[in-house]
Amino acid sequence: MFEIAIKNGLCLVKDRFLRFNIGIEGNKITYVGKEDIRGEENINATGCFVLPGFFNAHTHSAMTLLRGYAEGLPLKEWLEKIWEKEAKLDERAVYLGAKLACVEMLKSGITCFADMYIHMDSIAKAVEETGIRAVLGYGMADRGDEKRAKEEMRIAMDFIKNWSGKKRMEFILAPHAIYTCSPEFLAEIARIAKEKGIIKHIHASETLWEVREAKKRYGMSPIELLNSIGFLDNKTVLAHGVWLSERDMEIISEKGASVAHCPSSNLKLSSGIAKVAEMLEKGINVCLGTDGAASNNLLNLFTEMRISALLQNLRRKFLNPAEFLRMATSNGYLAYGINGGMIEKGKLADLVIMEVSHIHQPLYEPVNSIVFSSLGSEVRDVIVDGRVVLEDREPIYFELEELIEEVRLLLSFDYYYEKV
Ligand SMILES: [Zn+2]
Repeated sequence: MFEIAIKNGLCLVKDRFLRFNIGIEGNKITYVGKEDIRGEENINATGCFVLPGFFNAHTHSAMTLLRGYAEGLPLKEWLEKIWEKEAKLDERAVYLGAKLACVEMLKSGITCFADMYIHMDSIAKAVEETGIRAVLGYGMADRGDEKRAKEEMRIAMDFIKNWSGKKRMEFILAPHAIYTCSPEFLAEIARIAKEKGIIKHIHASETLWEVREAKKRYGMSPIELLNSIGFLDNKTVLAHGVWLSERDMEIISEKGASVAHCPSSNLKLSSGIAKVAEMLEKGINVCLGTDGAASNNLLNLFTEMRISALLQNLRRKFLNPAEFLRMATSNGYLAYGINGGMIEKGKLADLVIMEVSHIHQPLYEPVNSIVFSSLGSEVRDVIVDGRVVLEDREPIYFELEELIEEVRLLLSFDYYYEKV
């Protein structure tokens, strides 16, 4: 008898869809196969796809509060406006914004997300209460100030210390970017990360401005700079990687670092189109992220898969749609060293049950249907760490209506909006 049995779904197992049953015990998948199994809890997945959980490899969850703010600006100008607003966010605002993000993500099948932001205790609390899994790090920036670098590192490490050992949480060191952090500070972060075995996450090569600035200041590309100070290894996740040269890609590949590709954000802030096909060709582990809701404006990996695939088509690089599904699921788990993202015995039970769309028929090939014509609203149930956290599209562990009301009240107090 399993704790949970998922029955009769079309399960994605090693790149193929098979009509299987899945048994879950504790927080792991313990059976995948055709046997007629029984669970204390039985989930009928007839007429559904069963997929590994989706992994949002780069976001700033509480930016849901800034969704729709500062529209129509390129990254640099946009960021200045955003920073001004973020300085006014307090712990409670970040908690509510992050919680809202967790619901949005769960509802479209995201079981884990990587976040770098401020007031991280608030985000960890939102993770704890919603049942989602997360990889969390305080977003550090020393801006060339040695004293500030020490303080930033202290905040980042205190946060890790306070929350380590909590369920469904892993921790990262997350300096913002090479243009907000000095090379000395980045080198120190790399040293500490190596010593403690922590994964590093940074925005890199997001805009042409950033690459030009790096060349002007350091005579190197952002990737060459990070490499020169020992920042790149298989415990590094680079967000964006839009403006990578051939050499940059070779370095990333050699070092075994991952790239969190965020196509909607790159389009929205006019940053550019990442060379996903070339990165995959070079063996780079590319995963998929939404970035914050202020530069997307959704937290939905179905739309990211679709846009990413369409952009590569536009570049006349036609990839197998299965690549995008991997980028949205297993590649994220791999990048952050978490034992999930696949329907396989022994893997973490982070799973998504989604209805096969009745509208978007016919179903020639499930992967094509999921990548190109699914919106995320087909997601019915979500299991994280062996627990059902979304059932029949409703979160289990908190009252959604109450949360929406709290967010509405917060925003109506003119926290962020200019009064009109
Ligand atoms: Zn970002």
